[in-house]
Amino acid sequence: MTDGAQPRATAPRSTYRGRFAPSPTGPLHAGSLLSALGSWLLARSAGGQWLVRIEDVDRTREVAGAAAAQLSALHAFGLHPDAPVVHQSQRGPRYQQALQKLLDAGLAFECHCSRGQLAAVGGIHRRCLARSNRRDPAIRFRVADNSRISFTDRIRGTVQQDVDREVGDFVIRRSDGCWAYQLAVVVDDAAQGITEVVRGADLIGSTARQILLQRGLGLPTPRYAHLPVLLDAAGKKLSKSERAHPLDPSDPVPALRSAWRMLGQDLACLGDAADVETLLDRAVANFEPGRIPAQPARSEPFAASHKR
Ligand code: GLU
Repeated sequence: MTDGAQPRATAPRSTYRGRFAPSPTGPLHAGSLLSALGSWLLARSAGGQWLVRIEDVDRTREVAGAAAAQLSALHAFGLHPDAPVVHQSQRGPRYQQALQKLLDAGLAFECHCSRGQLAAVGGIHRRCLARSNRRDPAIRFRVADNSRISFTDRIRGTVQQDVDREVGDFVIRRSDGCWAYQLAVVVDDAAQGITEVVRGADLIGSTARQILLQRGLGLPTPRYAHLPVLLDAAGKKLSKSERAHPLDPSDPVPALRSAWRMLGQDLACLGDAADVETLLDRAVANFEPGRIPAQPARSEPFAASHKR
């Protein structure tokens, strides 16, 4: 197998398929480890599979070498995917097919509006305001009036969004030709047979859009669980200040212990586990999903292991 996929010793005990889907915009930080470990634990404790997908559709935000560094960090943290890693940059034809399906069904349209025109209506697109055509129109998904989406988040309970009023018609292919995250994630979650989307709560506002796309494309809706976002000491989302909490893949145990605690789990269950394998075995055996907090977690710099 390639890309760090490890053959499983035994067949999965359930149909659960989870995933971790980082964008290669920098090294993994404590917040991404929380999502990776949380999604891995939920999959493993359900006897399911866990996949990894590199979300590299936006080449303008990609940092050279970041994807490889993220994959090797996951390996160092003992989080091995059950299938070869999928890279979104290789999947343009699948997104094109989905886009065509939406266009053919009248569920998507070319939008020639400028940023200024959209800003004037609060950034929420309900109808095109452009008087002339751009050479590079974006393509938007048409959100019908009264598109209230409600779903049950495993950690946060019922979540509801009026997508027409709160979001509006949303971009599925950008004017620069890049595929939008919303379209790519829906196509890939379905293609990879994902049954549980477990990710950071910063993405909870995207879920209703993704459910609308799934319905438009005739795809199943997976279950969702949004993990707590990590905040730094100043209360800012950690990814914005990741330098303050770098992960050290050469010393994975302290960061794993810290992520375990921030998932609301009991540190005592890990005992004195000093290597990744022992720690993760104990983590799977003692994991209690009901303890995952719905509120943001405060991150603290973790002490380096004394075993260096
Ligand atoms: N690629 C997204 C990110 O790194 C995550 C997408 C998802 O899990 O749905 O923030």
